[in-house]
Amino acid sequence: MTEVFVFFISHWMLSAFAQSFFLHRYAAHGYFTLNRFWEKFFYLFTMAVQGPSFLNPRAYAILHRMHHAYSDTPDDPHSPVIIPNIFKMMWRTADIYDGISRNNLLVKEKFTQTLTLWPTMEKISNSWYYRIGTGALFVPVYYALVPAGQEWLYLLLPIHWLMGPIHGAIVNWAGHKVGYRNYPKTHDNSKNSLWLDFLILGELYQNNHHARANNPNFARRWFEMDITWQIIRLLAWGGIVKLSKTKAPLLA
Ligand SMILES: [Zn+2]
Ligand SMILES: [Zn+2]
Repeated sequence: MTEVFVFFISHWMLSAFAQSFFLHRYAAHGYFTLNRFWEKFFYLFTMAVQGPSFLNPRAYAILHRMHHAYSDTPDDPHSPVIIPNIFKMMWRTADIYDGISRNNLLVKEKFTQTLTLWPTMEKISNSWYYRIGTGALFVPVYYALVPAGQEWLYLLLPIHWLMGPIHGAIVNWAGHKVGYRNYPKTHDNSKNSLWLDFLILGELYQNNHHARANNPNFARRWFEMDITWQIIRLLAWGGIVKLSKTKAPLLA
C-alpha cells in the first residue's frame, strides 16, 4: 500500500510542477526563457507527467491570459464567484479549453502570442489514442503495486487520469474563494490559500499573483514560500532557464 501512495504523491507533485513551471510561468507569462532543447524537453516532460490529461501550452496560455484579463467577471473562463459549483466551473473551463485547442473559438489576438508551439505534439496529445493509451499505462502499474485485499486503491486511478484539470480546478476555485488577501484592492476575489498550497507548489498565492502579475515569485510575506519559484532560481543558477528581463512580456 505504501508503494501506491509513493507513486500517487510522486505523480501528483510532478504534474503540479509541470503545470506551474511550464504551462503557467513559462507558456502563459514568459517569466523566463528556455533554449530549443530545454523547451522541447519540458514540453515532453509535461506530456509525460500529465499523461492523459495533458493540457497543451498554447491553449493553456490563452485560457489563462483570459483569466487575468477578466478575473471574476462573467468573461472569466473559471470564476468561482460567477459559478460557485466547482464541477460546473470545471465543465465551463473544459468547454472553453476545448474550443481553443481545436481552434473553434475565436479569441482576441492579444491573448494568442505564445512561446511554446509544437503543432505535431499538440495534434498527438489531443487525440483519443494518446489519451486512452497513456491512461491505460497506469493499470499495469497499479496491478503490480496494489496488494491483495486492498483493491479499493484502484479508485485512485481516475485522479491520475484527470490530474491536470484537477490541479487547475483546485487553484481556480480555492484561489478565488478561500484564504486571506495581502492586496485587498485587487478588482477580483483572489485569495492566498496558504494551508492548501503545499499541494500545488506556489500556485495558490492567487491574490499576490493577481496583484503583481509581473513578479515571477508568488510569495510575499515571511511565512509564504513559493516552491516553484525556488526551483526556477535553482534552474537559473544552473543555466537551464534564463530569467526574462522584460516584465511579464506575454501577459495581456
Ligand atoms: Zn497567471
Ligand atoms: Zn486567478
